[in-house]
Amino acid sequence: MSLLVVGSVAFDSVETPFGKCERMLGGSASHFSISASFFSHVSIVGVVGGDFGEAEQRVFESHSIGTQDLERIEAGKTFRWRGRYDYDLNVAHTLETQLNVFADFKPKLSAESKASRLVFLGNIQPDLQREVREQIPKAELVALDTMNLWIETARESLLRTIRGVDLVIINDAEARQLTNIPNLIKAARTILSWGPKALIIKRGEYGAALFTPDNYFAIPAYPLESVFDPTGAGDTFAGGFMGYLSSQEKTDEETMRRAMIFGSVMASFNVEKFGTERVRRLTYAEINERFRAFKRMTNFEEIPFERAVEAAK
Ligand code: AMP
Repeated sequence: MSLLVVGSVAFDSVETPFGKCERMLGGSASHFSISASFFSHVSIVGVVGGDFGEAEQRVFESHSIGTQDLERIEAGKTFRWRGRYDYDLNVAHTLETQLNVFADFKPKLSAESKASRLVFLGNIQPDLQREVREQIPKAELVALDTMNLWIETARESLLRTIRGVDLVIINDAEARQLTNIPNLIKAARTILSWGPKALIIKRGEYGAALFTPDNYFAIPAYPLESVFDPTGAGDTFAGGFMGYLSSQEKTDEETMRRAMIFGSVMASFNVEKFGTERVRRLTYAEINERFRAFKRMTNFEEIPFERAVEAAK
């Protein structure tokens, strides 16, 4: 097995200036795995309640997502998140979080999951992230995401978890909050000094940047005129990124740069409709077409300085 994700599987209720939607399939592991499934085989470690229905289960099945480590507690209720976005769609306002079955969750990995090559510790309580990480000591690359709630309420545990991973994938506000440093470049250097070999900072409609100890690489977001619901964009980015990486032999910086494009391609689709609606119906032709659009958008010719000056005269 190649790629494993631990994270929330949720029922989300979301309100944006453009509409609202109740009880849709969401959660970090759901968004991540549906996105990653276009590139690689992916399995979920998580927990759902008896209210997790056949329709939701079918979404995972239809994308060949492994659910043998997705525990089901018949007597419990699935994790719920309710959020609202105002016109600044980069900022999610959490209105309600019900941990439900996640409150007593103890991740137990099957032998197959323990043999995963790549692992994504999606947004959940950092103790749980570490419990999963420690069960896969031989993974080639382990990445982590988090959110403001854990930075505020479980900071020490989160820092311990970060020290044990290879890659951190967070957004700009989280990087600032985590380090207490307003300048993103300085914040990035600080996070890298804690141990990870690479850091990706997602910047919503402004794109994403990859930091390594020696290099910096950045790409814009795909220019969309109508963004409907940004929920899950970060996890969908991570899914495209890790899914592509998992399909490749190497996980070096060159491969990570290409993976950044696939992450951005997938995230750009995610925000076009509510929840997982758009990504789950994607075709490979649509993914390819948007990849080419990114290439056109970011490609520029190298011009020696003398020629540029000559042309300007
Ligand atoms: P993002 O990709 O950052 O937009 O993540 C959105 C997803 O995070 C939603 O589908 C929520 O279900 C999930 N989520 C929100 N709060 C939490 C939390 N405290 N723990 C785990 N998952 C959460």
